[in-house]
Amino acid sequence: MNNKQYVIALDQGTTSSRAIIFDKLGKIIGMSQREFEQFYPEPGWVEHRPEDILQSQISVLQEVVKEFKIDSNSIAAIGITNQRETTLLWDKESGKAIYNAIVWQDRRTAHYCDEIGSKHKGKIHRKTGLIVDAYFSASKIKWILDHVEGAREKANSGKLMFGTVDSWLVYHLTEGKVHATDATNASRTMIYNITENKWDKELLKIFDIPVSILPEVRSSNAYFGHLSTDILGVSIPIHGIAGDQQAALFGQMCIHPGMMKNTYGTGCFLVLNTGSELVLSENNLLSTIAWQIDGKTTYALEGSVFIGGAVIQWLRDGLGIIQSASESEELATSVEDSGGVVFVPALTGLGAPHWDQYARGTIIGITRGTTKAHITRAALESIAFQVKDIVDAMSSDMGAPAQELRVDGGAIQNNLLLQSQADFSGIKVVKPAIAETTALGAAYFAGLGCGFWTSLDDISQQWKQEASFQPMIDEKKKAAMVARWKKAIERSKNWEE
Ligand code: ADP
Repeated sequence: MNNKQYVIALDQGTTSSRAIIFDKLGKIIGMSQREFEQFYPEPGWVEHRPEDILQSQISVLQEVVKEFKIDSNSIAAIGITNQRETTLLWDKESGKAIYNAIVWQDRRTAHYCDEIGSKHKGKIHRKTGLIVDAYFSASKIKWILDHVEGAREKANSGKLMFGTVDSWLVYHLTEGKVHATDATNASRTMIYNITENKWDKELLKIFDIPVSILPEVRSSNAYFGHLSTDILGVSIPIHGIAGDQQAALFGQMCIHPGMMKNTYGTGCFLVLNTGSELVLSENNLLSTIAWQIDGKTTYALEGSVFIGGAVIQWLRDGLGIIQSASESEELATSVEDSGGVVFVPALTGLGAPHWDQYARGTIIGITRGTTKAHITRAALESIAFQVKDIVDAMSSDMGAPAQELRVDGGAIQNNLLLQSQADFSGIKVVKPAIAETTALGAAYFAGLGCGFWTSLDDISQQWKQEASFQPMIDEKKKAAMVARWKKAIERSKNWEE
């Protein structure tokens, strides 16, 4: 029995670090958040300062405990969830990073990945479930090893450490005692074999990465050492880690095969639980580890959309036709439909299932009668259409139609978006009562790990729905819209040279 009162989730995201206190009922007691600086040293490059990641995370943890006046002794455990794939290398002796964190969005290794893909695409997909792309950690590690003076020598003499953001945090939060990651984060590196559950020697050779720099891989609810007493004055176990999308899947309690969630943020991330079976996609989706609990692996299929809520930001900041994201709903519902306008927001290429980095944004079907309301409606619909394409790809991989889509992320405040999603995908769309699903998932892993919660049954009772949306659209109308969307997608492809 664990008689402590709280679990704290550290949510280390791409633009900010947050700390959230949860009680035994899974309710939020308090939250603290801090943004940090983004660096774009060259076109297509994205970096973070490793110290910013660490210090922002420590300061929000201290702040939330102080502000919400909880006794540090009443914290059962800390869970970590993080921006995935982002890559750090640090010196084993000093603990200092030897280069900035190369962020998941960074494209500097794209050409190198094209080369690797042309030779090893099939093998890499079979072993890691991933599509060869600069998005994942492997090519970023190689870039740092090749470009930072002395890095290779240091690595070869066992003096260098690699980690994704979770590892970097754990290493420093435990005063350098633990160099580890969890299976979900490992599964995003492109050097981790997700069927054998170990670092893959052959892939390490292909990417020229020495095994000595790698962290130990543990379960998502494993013990990852104790928090340094310097931080909160007491020693608290770190007892869970998962990448952000996997944590959200868990926080949404999508614990049975066939259950799925979509996060509508800047981009969209759809993840489907495929159970203990690894399903390799035939429709350009990624296969990944959903979580590992007590050594038992659950797999998932994942599809990402690069521009989701960001298309609404573009209407606001690029086009200037709305003042705020929330205004988009009112404007879009002021017209009955998009008036035949289709918007393909391939502003940075197309992600799953199309994977065309040369596609560009397209607004088509404009007539004399087209207004900003039609364009806004088409933009909102484009988010739902992109997600529909992934839902369809998943159904096809699974050989069964999807049942229900659980949703989270900033854009789910938009009811028109969620109704369009239900209409286009032909499935029920469900909004949870607790929107902070990513942090909640991390808290659940940690709480399960330390005995704060005793079983999955114990926590699965806590998930509650706030609202749901059923398909209502006329089938004929839908068929015409889907056909137009498909045509428009084709026109957006292969544009940029
Ligand atoms: P991230 O975690 O990726 O920063 P969030 O989950 O905070 O994203 O969601 C922010 C995104 O949601 C932004 O791209 C914003 O344009 C979009 N968004 C926020 N509110 C609305 C709304 N009412 N309608 C449509 N999009 C919205």
